[in-house]
Amino acid sequence: MREVKTTCPYCGVGCGIVLNIDDDDRIAWVDDDPTNQSSQGMLCVKGRFGTTYVNHPDRLTTPLIKEDGEFREASWDEALDLVAEKFIEYRGAFGSFASAKATNEDAFIQQKFVRLLMGTNNIDHCTRLCHAPSVEAMLDQIGSGATSNSYADYEAASCLLLVGSDASSNHPVAASRMRRAIDSAGAQLIVINPKRIDMCDRAAYFLQNKPGTDVSVFNGMARAVLDAGFEDRSFIDSRTEDFDGWKDEVLSSTVEQYAEAAGVGAEELRGAALLYARPPERRDRPTEIPGSCLIWGMGVTQHLHGTDNARSLLNLAFLCGQIGRPGCGVSPLRGQNNVQGCGDAGCIPDTLPGYQSYEAAIANFEEAWGAGLSKVQGMRATDMVERIPQGDVQAMFIVGENPMLSEPNLHHAEESLKALKFLVVMDLFMHETAEIADVVLPACSFAEKDGTFTNSERRVQRVRQAIPPVGDARPDWEVIADLGRRVAIKVDIDPGQFTYGSASEIFDEMARLVPFLRGLSYERIEDGGIQWPCPTSDHPGTTFLHEESFPRGLGKFVAVRQQDVADETPDDEYPLMLTTGRVLYHWHGGTITSRVQGLLNTVDTVPVTIHPDDAAASGVEDGDATAVFSRRGRMNGVAVVSDAVQPGTIFVPFVKLKGSAANFLTNNAYDEVSRIPEYKLCAVKVEKKRERRRMR
Ligand code: SF4
Repeated sequence: MREVKTTCPYCGVGCGIVLNIDDDDRIAWVDDDPTNQSSQGMLCVKGRFGTTYVNHPDRLTTPLIKEDGEFREASWDEALDLVAEKFIEYRGAFGSFASAKATNEDAFIQQKFVRLLMGTNNIDHCTRLCHAPSVEAMLDQIGSGATSNSYADYEAASCLLLVGSDASSNHPVAASRMRRAIDSAGAQLIVINPKRIDMCDRAAYFLQNKPGTDVSVFNGMARAVLDAGFEDRSFIDSRTEDFDGWKDEVLSSTVEQYAEAAGVGAEELRGAALLYARPPERRDRPTEIPGSCLIWGMGVTQHLHGTDNARSLLNLAFLCGQIGRPGCGVSPLRGQNNVQGCGDAGCIPDTLPGYQSYEAAIANFEEAWGAGLSKVQGMRATDMVERIPQGDVQAMFIVGENPMLSEPNLHHAEESLKALKFLVVMDLFMHETAEIADVVLPACSFAEKDGTFTNSERRVQRVRQAIPPVGDARPDWEVIADLGRRVAIKVDIDPGQFTYGSASEIFDEMARLVPFLRGLSYERIEDGGIQWPCPTSDHPGTTFLHEESFPRGLGKFVAVRQQDVADETPDDEYPLMLTTGRVLYHWHGGTITSRVQGLLNTVDTVPVTIHPDDAAASGVEDGDATAVFSRRGRMNGVAVVSDAVQPGTIFVPFVKLKGSAANFLTNNAYDEVSRIPEYKLCAVKVEKKRERRRMR
């Protein structure tokens, strides 16, 4: 038995894990890593028990080429020669999705392949589907899309404001660190969420707003702060701009009007606002300025006006001066394990690696890579799928993503993706998108390769190979480098640009080209991760950002007004509002966790949470097999009758189980600024099915 320290492959908290490997090179069990600075020895059920998918018999083990509608096995040479030849044919109409589950090194080389060899910036990843509105708003108003503070600041805060996030299910170890602050040190908690979540038991205020009314809530809180004179005048004067125009907008309604629009009590709204603005002193930190952390999830972002929602949060943080110190800050809780790193590495269509603008940085990249690059912004993930039918995208390379499960309105997404002329998928399993591909390449899991992940608090941590690749699978970076050399020769680019001896060589290239990573190397993070920015090799890393100024200079207030809460509202035919989220025991669409028997044993059917009044009106009882319908499709689940949801609202997690998933119902309406789909809301109806069983 041997031990290998590495990083959890599930969520953006980035917990340290220790894989115990048996003599057959299989993961026998997983321990926590008490030395890990992000998780401090804690793990949730997915990190501790969720890695058996690595050796699941469903793993893809060899390249597959489709012929006459059937897959046949192929050698790597045959498959990559075919892919290289076809990709060159579709240069100019090519797009690629990167994987936020893969390493920084995998992501960096994939965007290099797309930009340098395919001549396009059509590269994106799943942040488009989770925190794109946060990133858009933060880039515009702050100049950086990264979380400003660290998990340690949750524990140092006097007040935690948790918005649109069921952290106990989706980021359990971050939630544990929040609970530690509340239970052991008297930090105050405010929860804003249309659904009652576990953390509400500890909340000083729980505002159960109507779904989609975040702007009303946050403008109302701002109005309450202004009415009380609790704004931070010195921060506003010295650190921000456009305050007066924003203030005029906020003053256009009263706290009572905002509260009514949001469906919450005016006194609760006022109380929560003043608590956030002026939190009480912490009994264990009497000498520090009490701070408030603003932490949010996809309940804020996955809306028709998700960017407005994120803006309204940032405005409140500026108003109260709750940013730029320890124990406060703005923290979008990132979804996948490496969604931060995938963006840092450049898998986004509108900037180069390190969020550097094409204008400012393209010359550096052209010099390093020895060829000209396109400055034309690429298509975003959702737009790539939408524009396939017009022929703007004819070939795609999809790595570690399953858009035929993750896109909204799945029937529509399926139609689009099937219209591609050539599709290559690289992944661990034969999922819905892989089934329709022309070539499928077997990828390595996190346990079979070296690299790095960057977690929600900007900590770059090592991923270490613990077992040999399963079957003929190869690490993504190695496959893309091999493919890159084949394409480079044909398009007259130096194939040496895709010759790497190890993952660390790719990391070093990325660090040379990205200023905030320049001081990092595998050697420096060997004994624990370092938080970027880390500009020089003797820099210790950065726990909190924006102490003196923002990357854009002054923080920008942006006036926002509550718009329509959703593209579709309930009517006689579809009388309920669907809202979506997560369950603790599954990860996103469930492609991985549905192959972990222990997790599947706990939740094997999609739960449909419905208020007792609506259950009675629909003739549904707790435990009933239930069908949910929207204008786009249907899904089956099991009823959980509970007043955790409001009357008129049902809650369904994203996971696909027994062929049913919320995304058969969701609406492909988009936030115009960020192009995130409106996953959170659509009109539905619920009916009882005949069989009956009870949820565990
Ligand atoms: S909290 Fe996230 S990173 Fe930590 S063990 Fe759970 S899934 Fe893994």
